[in-house]
Amino acid sequence: MEWADFLGHHRQRKWFANAIAHNKLASTFLLVGPSGIGKRTFALLVAKSLLCTETDPKELNFCNKCETCVQVESQTHPDFLYLNRDKERSAITLDQLVGSKDSRMREGFCYELRIRPYSGRRKIGVIDDADTLEEETSNCLLKTLEEPPPGAVIFLLGTSEKRQISTIRSRSQIVRFSPLSVEDVEELILRNSYVSDSAEARQLASRSHGSIQYAQELNDPSLMEFRNQIQSFLMQRPIEFIALAKAILDHVNNSTREGQPRRDRLTWCLDEVTDALRNSLWMQMGVTAPGSSDPASVFAPLKNLPVRTLVKLIELTHETRGNVGRFIAPAALLEAWTANFVRLARL
Ligand SMILES: [Zn+2]
Repeated sequence: MEWADFLGHHRQRKWFANAIAHNKLASTFLLVGPSGIGKRTFALLVAKSLLCTETDPKELNFCNKCETCVQVESQTHPDFLYLNRDKERSAITLDQLVGSKDSRMREGFCYELRIRPYSGRRKIGVIDDADTLEEETSNCLLKTLEEPPPGAVIFLLGTSEKRQISTIRSRSQIVRFSPLSVEDVEELILRNSYVSDSAEARQLASRSHGSIQYAQELNDPSLMEFRNQIQSFLMQRPIEFIALAKAILDHVNNSTREGQPRRDRLTWCLDEVTDALRNSLWMQMGVTAPGSSDPASVFAPLKNLPVRTLVKLIELTHETRGNVGRFIAPAALLEAWTANFVRLARL
């Protein structure tokens, strides 16, 4: 991947280029924005630019040919550390950060970051899924952020700075990323061959909320079918919330029996509802949803609810989503969500 192939986020690029040129790069960055818009790729490209041995270190650029570039791209370079949540787990673990109990601080992300750079330049660490950092792991990470190894640059990737404890936030330079434009998502859909027809790609992109990940999900027939089912529930008056919650639970139970993939699927369902609520809110406020060029394509079934109620419902659904990782049974979570939803909305 080269900068020339990277779409969107020009302001963030310019900002990093300027910081590197003036030697004013912070040690910790919190990159926030919706999933699937390019934050991970962006961090990888900055890392390559900082480590490439063939280009001017004051430029946000890389040759993409030297051994370092090739190794960073394949995530095998010893100075480039990438950490993400194990797909079977709900959060990044303490062991991943500071090593297992028997070898605390002698292995793990924070330890490896402290080892002298192999290239003699710097270490770069990327923590993906930073939303899942829990208080204990955050506090452990904080020690490294407070006294980072010389030259080290750490990227935390998440959806919102609100998902981080205040001490992590205050130690980080926060960089916000916005959804991609419809044109950029269309281009990425064609590049990734999700569909081959450009009219189809355009239509998919216009409903993607500026996220290539979302576009990919929209293209999955089983998810598409369930999305339509959620939408038809929300279109009814009165809304059959108990039946909706049961449909979500059945969908989660039927998709997979494993713990974490089930939780991921439940998160996806709640995000679907949040999207419908958010669209309704935007419509109420008379603005077009980001990443959407066609207001008519926005699904906004609850547009008649007062803005304040919509905001409360979004908060409630978001809070429930945050509890998905806390090992509460999906059925119990959905039951509480449904009861509160009906009470707040009085539909
Ligand atoms: Zn290079």
